[in-house]
Amino acid sequence: MLNKKNLIFLGGPGAGKGTVSNAMIAKYGVAHISTGDILRAEVAKGTPAGKEAGAIMKSGGLVPDAMVCGMVGERLKEPDCEKGFILDGFPRTIAQAETLATILDGMGKKIDAVIYLNVSDEIILQRLTARMNCRGCDAIYNKIFMPPKVEGICDKCGSELFQRADDSLETAKSRLAVFHKQTQPLIDYYEKLGLLYSCKSTELDEIVAELAKVLE
Ligand code: ADP
Ligand code: ZN
Repeated sequence: MLNKKNLIFLGGPGAGKGTVSNAMIAKYGVAHISTGDILRAEVAKGTPAGKEAGAIMKSGGLVPDAMVCGMVGERLKEPDCEKGFILDGFPRTIAQAETLATILDGMGKKIDAVIYLNVSDEIILQRLTARMNCRGCDAIYNKIFMPPKVEGICDKCGSELFQRADDSLETAKSRLAVFHKQTQPLIDYYEKLGLLYSCKSTELDEIVAELAKVLE
């Protein structure tokens, strides 16, 4: 069981938020709220929101605050969030952080800790352009750092792996620039609130062990 169970994972694109989230969910059964995953599902369904978001995501920019905040507000009401939740990729702007605080306040909840995964730009670009995602489940691989047993096939469910449209070198560079400009100020913001924990390790197993100590 986690003592601190309502969490935000903060970090650049490809810092490992999704991979560490998956490991924490398997271990603790907390809910995973990835705004990137929610948005990609909207894009795949071809909803009006999905159409608007899709074009922005392809360019590496941020979709409007109101859209993601609405989606997160709805998702937080679902019963699986009672056990705790990981917000992965949200908030990404100060405005989103402020809206989140209001939403949680209205529900009588609060954020217990903000985990910052600090990874250099150089490693981020290497990781993003080699990242592979599963079509069938949430598994994330990396051709160089975390390859599947059989090339192009998910170890967990046997489905085909694919590269995200925004993981090209050009878009990855834009996403990194957007992170530095819009999301990095949140590090200071949560530090001042006394909620920030900066992860020392960059290896998955070490991060999970470190978080167990800090959050349990
Ligand atoms: P990563 O963390 O690897 O950049 P995500 O899957 O979290 O990837 O996000 C992919 C894209 O979805 C972002 O580049 C952005 O366009 C959009 N997105 C995701 N979360 C948010 C958010 N909280 N606010 C605005 N846009 C978002
Ligand atoms: Zn899979």
